[in-house]
Amino acid sequence: MTIATNAASFRAFVLGTGSSGNSLLVEAEGVRILVDAGLGPRVLEARLAALGVTLDRGPGQLAIDAIVPTHHHGDHFGGVEKIARALRCPVYLHPGVEAPRIRARFEVREMAIGRTFKIGSLDVTAELVPHDAPQVALRIASREHAIGVATDVGRLTQGLTALLASCDAALIEANHCTEMLAFGPYPMRLRQRVGGGLGHLSNSQTAELAAKLVGSRLGRIFLGHLSRSNNTPERALETVASAAPRMDVSVLPHGSVCALDVRRSKSFQLALPFD
Ligand SMILES: [Zn+2]
Ligand SMILES: [Zn+2]
Repeated sequence: MTIATNAASFRAFVLGTGSSGNSLLVEAEGVRILVDAGLGPRVLEARLAALGVTLDRGPGQLAIDAIVPTHHHGDHFGGVEKIARALRCPVYLHPGVEAPRIRARFEVREMAIGRTFKIGSLDVTAELVPHDAPQVALRIASREHAIGVATDVGRLTQGLTALLASCDAALIEANHCTEMLAFGPYPMRLRQRVGGGLGHLSNSQTAELAAKLVGSRLGRIFLGHLSRSNNTPERALETVASAAPRMDVSVLPHGSVCALDVRRSKSFQLALPFD
């Protein structure tokens, strides 16, 4: 089934989340942006088809307007080259992404960190966040809606909170439960890496972030990038939802494939009718 692109619609599709591959397609005002490509083109197309989305467009039009990887770890970057080749679409790279092969062989557009730029009619903002590879959180906005993506975050920063506060909905990582990580199967070095300031957010850190965002524009949080070994969807959801009672919090178990509801929350519309 093909769903026509409606200029007024804003859609987002999770095509994978977690260490086995991350990818999110954002589609608005006729523009399609693929945030992260931790999957190959065949899997991407099959998962989109399962969600009722086809990548075909008319002659001379790109199926995807841009691939925007957040960083060069394999679970976000492993499929960039194959997808760029298969779909002939440009790749937007920030200066911290180590990808000499892609810079040499593909259409690369350098993207500045901390400054908003356009992809088609959409506004894209990248904010540097702490991780053990140069990593950005992203905000993608149409005239009507804005979505944030923040995975692979070692610790909270003011810049990240500010970026997410101006989104309607955000995919935010709740990677691990601190207790499960401490007593889980990972060797000490890996535990220290995951739980350290350049690793990933724990459920409690994400809960702290959600609590800070109560009262902002952000009304919907989708918890993603959950560890299969050191977390459960129930723990992540309970920890974060209890810290942000007025927010609509839901959880994407490892490997989820689904459409996200990115509508602006009713409470925000009521609070600020003229925005
Ligand atoms: Zn990473
Ligand atoms: Zn990752």
